[in-house]
Amino acid sequence: MVSSYFKRLLLDLGISEERIEMLEGKGGIVEDEFEGIKYLRFKDSAGNLRRGTVVFDHHNIILGFPHIKRVVQLEKGIKRVFKMKPFYVEEKIDGYNIRVAQIEGRVFAFTRGGFICPFTTERIEDFVNMEFFKDYPNLVLCGEMAGPESPYLVEGPPHIKEDIQFFLFDIQEKKTGKSISVKDRIKMAEEYGIPSVEVFGMYNISKIDELRQLIEELSTQRREGIVMKSPDMKKIIKYVTPYANINDIRIGARVFFELPHGYFMQRIKRLAFYLAEEKIRDADFERYATALGKALLEPFVESIWDVGGGEEIAEMFTVRVKHIETAYKMVSHFERLGLKIHIEDIEETSNEYWKITFKRVYPEATREIRELWNGHAF
Ligand code: ATP
Repeated sequence: MVSSYFKRLLLDLGISEERIEMLEGKGGIVEDEFEGIKYLRFKDSAGNLRRGTVVFDHHNIILGFPHIKRVVQLEKGIKRVFKMKPFYVEEKIDGYNIRVAQIEGRVFAFTRGGFICPFTTERIEDFVNMEFFKDYPNLVLCGEMAGPESPYLVEGPPHIKEDIQFFLFDIQEKKTGKSISVKDRIKMAEEYGIPSVEVFGMYNISKIDELRQLIEELSTQRREGIVMKSPDMKKIIKYVTPYANINDIRIGARVFFELPHGYFMQRIKRLAFYLAEEKIRDADFERYATALGKALLEPFVESIWDVGGGEEIAEMFTVRVKHIETAYKMVSHFERLGLKIHIEDIEETSNEYWKITFKRVYPEATREIRELWNGHAF
């Protein structure tokens, strides 16, 4: 149930009573609490309050991070979106999206879905200069948390060797969700020493060959892709490397039955468009075809063997926390997300950190494989 305080607030924001009731009825808005602070989380969008919006009070409204459109035909995509105009190209780094904001003197990190992440909230001060929020309490830092020690992803970008890091890619205003310009963001990040995604520079369609070259390099370096942004942040598109498409399939195939078939189909589609646009033929084509086949089949077959041998499908995650309680808070957080996680190991590494190893188990995928392996007809 949503309290009368939040109902009043939503009415003040111009959302009608019927709409509020409808949202509440289908679970589109949920009241949550984190360490005694109550907030409203939007699982659906409502008016200009995007999915993932978090509401504390009339002023502290953090809009959901917007969807970024994807192009699969690089050249025509760029022409269609940017015409002849210049745009910034920056790295699309593979991690999890986080919005960081100060509420009543405390800084919180919100996930894409609008949850306060206990792990990221604890660690964020290791990466972001908190002075920023003293000077700009009205701004929200949006960035990616990426690295090998992530609570949400099994793999990080290969160039991040340990732990996890924050990479800023957007600064938005509270309440409006309006982004500041790329130039101002870069300037502010420099001023406060906030780590940011790599900006490869300004491009326009006449530099398409250089951009293709950049994508080849990123793919060879096993990096995810690029995000292209107009200087005023009004137009944004993303493009992913062939490496990332195949690698996502490899990671997903291990838990094949947990993912919608679309997960695999979308990535095969993106790869096919890349092969067509780049006119990849002969030996190079064979290489991609083999890589795709292996990515899909190898981990899948291995997981069948594992289950056949009595094991359970599972993934392991290691993270560093400052307080053991944060690890337990993460377990509760995962439970609320409907995930089955348990702590496997707690190790004191230094005065500063504890290393926690979590195991995420996939009972449904395990059951499905076991039944099929045991000869069930369907
Ligand atoms: P959506 O399509 O709704 O944006 P998604 O999860 O399907 O989300 P992704 O392929 O993950 O799409 O790409 C979008 C995400 O990429 C962003 O939400 C952000 O977390 C991440 N990202 C990484 N680097 C950047 C960057 N430089 N600029 C913007 N987003 C970035």
